[in-house]
Amino acid sequence: MKTYPIVLIPGDGIGPEITVAVKQVLAAAGAAIEWVERQAGVAALAVGSEVLPESTLEAVRTHHVALKGPCTTPVGKGFSSINVQLRKKLDLYAAVRPVRNLPGVPTRFEGVDLVIVRENTEGLYSGIEYEVTPGVVTSVKVATERACTRIARWAFRYATHRARRKITVMHKANIMKLTDGLFMQCAEQIHKVEYPNIAYQSLIIDAGCMKLVQDPSQFDILLLENLYGDVVSDLCAGLVGGLGVVPGANIGDREAVFEAVHGSAPDIAGRNIANPLALLMSAVMMLNYLSDTYDDPDARTVADRVKQAYNAALADGCKTRDLGGTLSTEQFAQALVDRLNG
Ligand code: NAD
Repeated sequence: MKTYPIVLIPGDGIGPEITVAVKQVLAAAGAAIEWVERQAGVAALAVGSEVLPESTLEAVRTHHVALKGPCTTPVGKGFSSINVQLRKKLDLYAAVRPVRNLPGVPTRFEGVDLVIVRENTEGLYSGIEYEVTPGVVTSVKVATERACTRIARWAFRYATHRARRKITVMHKANIMKLTDGLFMQCAEQIHKVEYPNIAYQSLIIDAGCMKLVQDPSQFDILLLENLYGDVVSDLCAGLVGGLGVVPGANIGDREAVFEAVHGSAPDIAGRNIANPLALLMSAVMMLNYLSDTYDDPDARTVADRVKQAYNAALADGCKTRDLGGTLSTEQFAQALVDRLNG
């Protein structure tokens, strides 16, 4: 494959340890990557930088592609989420999260193969909150026709390129008639006018969640506004083995940042037990993106090698604790390296 400079943001909590594991596996698979390491989050504060340093943003703008570990966000106080800031500042409007069963990871359901497409820039993540008067606070949900249309168009185009069959919008337009109503109307419109080839369905989100946990195999692509996309991503992760196995990408028109769905997992950080697979799978998505964007079939070959290595390792029972195994982060990475070298 060609050589790519890729920005690496290790992040906080389990971020640094899973990042080391992923770099090791990618190197063994022959990925030609020059890592450009930059900080964000608590890790950036610790070295006296801003929480999201301009130098980190600038590196992503320059090199266009980043692999990012999770960043911690204080709950109920403190700075606003670096993850949300990064997505907004780089206009990474489409979050894509494939959710699939894996070999050797038994779960309640077989045949789960769905993709979550989440609008990444507005909704209740607009950060507009007011204290009207002590004891009364509000949070503003923003929906614009521009953002709702572009995420719908992105999802239908993705569905068409990937030969998927159906898009389901989950919404609460019975209650949030304007905001969720607009999101739904824009998707319907794009379906009718531009992509009648893909089946379209809309469901009120509470009923949709019930259907998801009854039989997820009935869904193909889920198109969701920001908050629903966040919540439903974790729900769907639970269907296939947990947050250790669900990768993600945040994609804009110029840049793309690949990161797992999970957070910084402070409860297990620094103990060498985190599952590096979700970040590794995000790196596989990144290699496929490089292959498509730069017309480089060799990048896809490397991605396939990594995928075969982790599928083989899982099928052989090599698993971290979150999947019922006993391997440490380092041992799991080594199991993959052994298969790549073998
Ligand atoms: P979390 O995803 O970090 O953890 C939830 C649970 O899943 C924990 O029990 C954790 O141990 C487990 N888990 C997560 N990833 C795992 C992995 N790779 N291997 C094994 N187990 C794993 O969610 P949280 O605890 O609600 O959030 C912790 C912090 O992460 C918060 O500050 C939150 O804001 C942040 N966060 C960041 C991102 C991001 O960077 N994109 C996403 C979600 C949450």
